[in-house]
Amino acid sequence: MNIFSKAPYRLTASGISDLMDKYTALVDWKISHIITGEYFCPTIHKLEMEAVTEVESILDNIKSGNEECMEKLMYALLLSGLAMQMIGNSRLAFGAEHHISHLWEMTVINEHIDALHGEKVSVGLIMYLDKYEKILQTIESDKCKVIDNAEFETALLKDTFGRKGLYEGILAENGESL
Ligand SMILES: [Zn+2]
Repeated sequence: MNIFSKAPYRLTASGISDLMDKYTALVDWKISHIITGEYFCPTIHKLEMEAVTEVESILDNIKSGNEECMEKLMYALLLSGLAMQMIGNSRLAFGAEHHISHLWEMTVINEHIDALHGEKVSVGLIMYLDKYEKILQTIESDKCKVIDNAEFETALLKDTFGRKGLYEGILAENGESL
């Protein structure tokens, strides 16, 4: 902790940003559970929510380098990795904000972006919060419906990832979910 707590603040802030995606990732997980019946673990969901809420409540102390609070940040980051291992996939850690960040990091639609991972995740989160708000309004107005657009997405994936020869590997990795 004496090393971690003295890290340049930009790195710490990036770690915090990487963690704040939990709100959308966990919502995605719940929505998928409701719509598709995907496995959902209330215990892990609760652990994740508690960890991220705790970090959010001590942001000022983390900024000042308080070791006890930095330890809580590290716990939350480690828990995220462990929880993925327990569930067997990355659903609870990666929402839309991570998908766009990973897309940028794979440089299939852009040149290299000189920013830390958490910074890119934050930009993705800002981009998608508006979409989540619209989805919420649609659900609340009882106008929400599921549209099967697998054919469109397959063509989009082929076009996007095919440019770098990644399409076949992505298909193999994701199996029939594509
Ligand atoms: Zn991340």
